Amino acid sequence: MELQKQEAQQSPSKRLMDKVAVITGGARGIGAATAKLFAENGAHVVIADVLDDLGASLAESIVGRFIHCDVSKEEDVESAINLALSWKGHVDIMLNNAGIGAIDGSITSLDMEHVKHLLSINLNGTIHGIKHAARAMIKGQKGGSIICTSSAAAIMGGLASHAYTMSKAAMDGLVRSAACELGVHLIRVNSISPHGVASEMLLSAFKRFEKVDITLEELKGHIGKRASLLQGKGATAEDVAHAALFLASDESSFITAHTFPIDGGYTSAVSHMS
Ligand code: NAD
Repeated sequence: MELQKQEAQQSPSKRLMDKVAVITGGARGIGAATAKLFAENGAHVVIADVLDDLGASLAESIVGRFIHCDVSKEEDVESAINLALSWKGHVDIMLNNAGIGAIDGSITSLDMEHVKHLLSINLNGTIHGIKHAARAMIKGQKGGSIICTSSAAAIMGGLASHAYTMSKAAMDGLVRSAACELGVHLIRVNSISPHGVASEMLLSAFKRFEKVDITLEELKGHIGKRASLLQGKGATAEDVAHAALFLASDESSFITAHTFPIDGGYTSAVSHMS
């Protein structure tokens, strides 16, 4: 253990040495990039997702574990935490990343069943993740880092549907209130707010918004201009993963109760690119 800690301090590429991470929505996109980066940095990773084939093969490739988990079901999230505990005996990092996008049209005709469904995943899933990770971390008495994947949509209206926007804004509120309670246990709670990552989720939203049929590769080339990003290019899933790595590592040990936009400046400055 002592040797591992020394190694972690000496090697900047092993920043999560000996830590155990649970990542919901880790089968693809931002979650998958983060699972790989965490594993490269020495973490033992449990991927919890509804996409069984993708999740299981990624888990195998990073010598991690996969569990089928629908985050809207509390018992599934609890099982993911229990898997980490029975595998390695502790949970140090929880990334509540599972989410769905949606376009729900006008506020005047909002379909409440649709809203309920989206909130059951994006918001309730996060509540389940914070609750069960915090229980395990408090019991383990070693502190921990809980990270939630929010969105720039929580900061600026009009970027996404009403249901999605409120799910992420509520998530940021929960991050702050949970951080207040858990600080005394040295458990940090933060959120990261990406914008403009060409993922399957963004692709389906884009297709419905723009009514064009493009591939994920084409979206990657397209996204910077379409999303008015300052650098004229979109983010990669790895850009977001590196922010999560910092918040998961002990380097961010005095950072809690905050929301970090990973948006190329989008929510703070106007693009002058045509
Ligand atoms: P993605 O669709 O590639 O990834 C979402 C993952 O969540 C998938 O693996 C999916 O199977 C999983 N998932 C969906 N419903 C689930 C459920 N009920 N239980 C467990 N897993 C479930 O898209 P992404 O862009 O990588 O999204 C990851 C997160 O990033 C989401 O929370 C999303 O809201 C957020 N986000 C993305 C962007 C972006 O630009 N792509 C911007 C802001 C926020």
